[in-house]
Amino acid sequence: MLNCDDYEMLAERAQRDALTPEERDVLERHLAECDGCREFAELASSIGGALRQRAGSAGPAPGVAGLRAGFIARLHRRRRDTAIGIAGAAAVIALHSWAYGTEYVGIMIGVLVIGLVVVVFRFQLPRRRRELAALAPDGDLLGTYRTDVELDIKGFRSARSLLPAYFIVGALALAIQPVLLVKQYLFSEELSWRGAIWSFLIFGSLGYKLWRDSYVNLPRLERELDELRS
Ligand SMILES: [Zn+2]
Repeated sequence: MLNCDDYEMLAERAQRDALTPEERDVLERHLAECDGCREFAELASSIGGALRQRAGSAGPAPGVAGLRAGFIARLHRRRRDTAIGIAGAAAVIALHSWAYGTEYVGIMIGVLVIGLVVVVFRFQLPRRRRELAALAPDGDLLGTYRTDVELDIKGFRSARSLLPAYFIVGALALAIQPVLLVKQYLFSEELSWRGAIWSFLIFGSLGYKLWRDSYVNLPRLERELDELRS
């Protein structure tokens, strides 16, 4: 049984005329019923066309294959980020309930986080796509792609500027945990390890994401933008 990732790979290979008639059949049947894959196939096809045109030849020119691979990887990443966002929201609910035993607060936080994820992916991203379409001259898909990368870079740079403040707040929030535990111990209260573990997990994973965006993803995007401009 093929999943949507497999169909995206087929759609990508279809761009290079590398499908057997059977594969083409299977792909077309799936595209008829799956909006996500159809959108992917249309984007892959228009970008593939724009890149070939830019290279001024019908076949893939040097550099073009790399650019297209970058674009395809980017679409995959978007989809993966959605999944991670939703899984993260579920983990926040589960961990919070586990740490504090207050299911209602946990559920409320979870609903807020899931709401945020939905707003970003249902409304923010399509709006951004429309803005991009308006910015790019007709058919200038490469320009659209470049603008998209530039917007991401802008976002990651503002996240990076928040990093020092985040680490100060995070360090304070974490430093207070041992103090709380010592206080609970001295006053013979029940030790609440779970609250401490929850704080470490949340601050740690958010900090890790900020750090990764700033020092791994941002430089990668900057390299990609250099390539697109050359
Ligand atoms: Zn699909």
